[in-house]
Amino acid sequence: MRYPSGRHFLQIPGPTNVPDRVLRAIDRPTIDHRGPEFGRLGREVLSEIRHIFKTRNPVIIYPASGTGAWEAALVNTLSPGDRVLMFETGHFATLWHRMATRLGLQAEFVPGDWRHGVDPALMEAKLAEDKARSIKAVCVVHNETSTGVTSRIGEIRKAIDRTGHPALFMVDTISSLASIDYRMDEWGVDVTVAGSQKGLMLPPGLSFNAVSEKALAASRHARLPKSFWGWAEMLEANKTGYFPYTPATNLLYGLREAIAMLLEEGLENVFARHNRHAEATRRAVRAWGLELLCLNPAEYSSSLTAVLVPEGHNADELRRVILEAFDMSLGSGLGKLQGKVFRIGHLGSFNDLMLAGTLSGVEMGLELAGVPHRKGGVQAALDYLAQEAASQARPA
Ligand code: PLP
Repeated sequence: MRYPSGRHFLQIPGPTNVPDRVLRAIDRPTIDHRGPEFGRLGREVLSEIRHIFKTRNPVIIYPASGTGAWEAALVNTLSPGDRVLMFETGHFATLWHRMATRLGLQAEFVPGDWRHGVDPALMEAKLAEDKARSIKAVCVVHNETSTGVTSRIGEIRKAIDRTGHPALFMVDTISSLASIDYRMDEWGVDVTVAGSQKGLMLPPGLSFNAVSEKALAASRHARLPKSFWGWAEMLEANKTGYFPYTPATNLLYGLREAIAMLLEEGLENVFARHNRHAEATRRAVRAWGLELLCLNPAEYSSSLTAVLVPEGHNADELRRVILEAFDMSLGSGLGKLQGKVFRIGHLGSFNDLMLAGTLSGVEMGLELAGVPHRKGGVQAALDYLAQEAASQARPA
């Protein structure tokens, strides 16, 4: 193996590359989390983070990974035996469903092929069937990180509304927040689950529940056991910028910087950048003659692209070759996709030339690993990126 000089290419779909500005922000002395300076930091991040979720409601920040925020969403709003509707869009939806079952919920899992998002018409049919209104919550993974498929949350909301069903709407935005358009309040989402290590450009270690008034009302009667995850104590302490237990102080310095960067760039520009990199990646994949896992163009993910390797070839072997030869990590196939797909992460702190380097590594790796493909993927992506750059440079 070559000596890995220069920067490692971290092109998994999260954790993502942490920008220098965020690293510098984290690299400061830890302060007293009960002192006045921390109170100012807490108040600032708890207020500003709401712009990222596009909500006016409270956002709770846990010193935990995303899995913790999944659990928090369920245990704060539901009671043992409650009916919950979930959709098998991929590996992460499967894990969230398994958790709901373990927690003692009656969690129905609508089967899926791992190549499509949640069908709004199916959501409508399922809720319309529930005449007794016994389903207490519907849970959707906005961007399935295992498949590169994005469910259409705005359309799903409309489908729910057509039925008049009162179920809580919970959405996992762990690999979409700050990468793909997301509007918590406009789309009437009751609990948004998120994590720090993807679009927010931070190291792993923080996770979030943004909570609507309806979710808060439900939490007053929810009987699933909870202690660490309890919203009530968090919200009480958060009023003055503090936390009921030791917060991840240095990650909060990083969060303050990451929010500032996202707002400086402008969220709509952040989304456009992710759309552009995703489109360039898909052009490369098509030019290579490889197949995208996502089958519906309306559901293409802008934060990652999952690519099928031809029958008889192993995606993990391809990833191993690329890591060894070019010091680049790509995402593996998860669950039943193991060995069948590799995933290119193009989210977070990322630009055109980083994408050009990433796709170059993939194209060279395909050759080295003997995976049948055509040349020209990188060129197709570069042509598109150059054309986009020219159209942006032109005076309005
Ligand atoms: N949900 C989605 C969509 C994810 O991508 C992940 C992790 O990648 C999780 C949930 C679980 O989050 P964590 O690994 O931070 O616990």
